[in-house]
Amino acid sequence: MANKKIQLQYLWTDESVMQADLLKKTSSGMTDWANEFYKRYGFQFDVQPADPKPTVQSLAKFALKKNDGVSPDQDRARVIEEKYDELRRPIARKIEDNTKAIASHERSITAKEDQNVLKKTEEGILDAQLASVPATDFAQKNTILLLKIAVLKQETALTTEITALRKQVIALSNAITKLQSDVAALYAKQATELETGGYEPELRRQMTSLFLNQKIGDEKRVNVVFCRFLRRKLAMRGLENQKVIGETFGQIGALIPELSVGSSSRILRQWLWPYPFIIVDIEMADPWTVAHEIVHAAGHDHPAARKLVESLEKRIRGIKVDVLGRKLPEAEYEEVPRYREVPGGYFDGAENDIMNYSAKGSKPADFVLADADKQRLDRAQFVVP
Ligand SMILES: [Zn+2]
Repeated sequence: MANKKIQLQYLWTDESVMQADLLKKTSSGMTDWANEFYKRYGFQFDVQPADPKPTVQSLAKFALKKNDGVSPDQDRARVIEEKYDELRRPIARKIEDNTKAIASHERSITAKEDQNVLKKTEEGILDAQLASVPATDFAQKNTILLLKIAVLKQETALTTEITALRKQVIALSNAITKLQSDVAALYAKQATELETGGYEPELRRQMTSLFLNQKIGDEKRVNVVFCRFLRRKLAMRGLENQKVIGETFGQIGALIPELSVGSSSRILRQWLWPYPFIIVDIEMADPWTVAHEIVHAAGHDHPAARKLVESLEKRIRGIKVDVLGRKLPEAEYEEVPRYREVPGGYFDGAENDIMNYSAKGSKPADFVLADADKQRLDRAQFVVP
């Protein structure tokens, strides 16, 4: 029985990428690798363009741009997040300072109110004394009255201070409310920046315009865009096999104008290619990258990342103290686990599954395709008999 065809359209972000690819035979190597791998499962790659002796000239129309094509920045989200964290930090510090100031003012208010209660008691005692002094003893009355005036003055001073402190507390709470809304505004701005811009809409736009201008692209063919990554995902740092060297983007809703529609010529430029596509870093990619990514395009998602215990740290829990408060010679230890996040691709399927990042080996024979993934490919709209 003839192999089923996995239909792909190879594209390059610009001619310099194409040149590097032709020199190192990166994309053709990936095709060969995939064909050797997939023939065991009854599939083969059907790649456009199919030029046996390609040159930059012969492939020129498959470059999304002649020069300065998109360099996908896979670490963009982290960089944006860090930028906004930086902007939020001083505001968070001010909120903290204001909160501390409010707490300290409230302690002063309580202390002053307590003093005021004492003054009221003193006042009451003086009133009682005043009532018990004979009406004719002016000297004694005068002394007590002077004392009472002094107490009343102190009470007034305390009340004034309390009022001033309360005003400050209100001002500080209002300032906190304002700062909190500044923080919320920064989160909203960050979300907008993450959603707009970026390389995905730009690549989708360029694929649409290539389709409209050159009739290149097909909904039954997956576009594979060879490119140079600007930055790779840092989530993978510190692991073996750690580079993210390819990525698959899913189907998006429809041909949607990304921005509000201006002139009619702009409408076409802003329409986004809605079909799944793959990006591959020509500098770093392993030869099985397209073979792996195409399974994603068929609907396979890696499981979610997991937190793994990386090490246990021994820490002194607290010095033991005996009943008399004397330190005992031996300290009590506790073990504190340290975690690291490991991408789900490291647990994906059998040890030698094409979808498992930790699979060892480099030859097609070193890898296997899971039954479920074979069925996904059988059903994929880009696979034909
Ligand atoms: Zn993957």
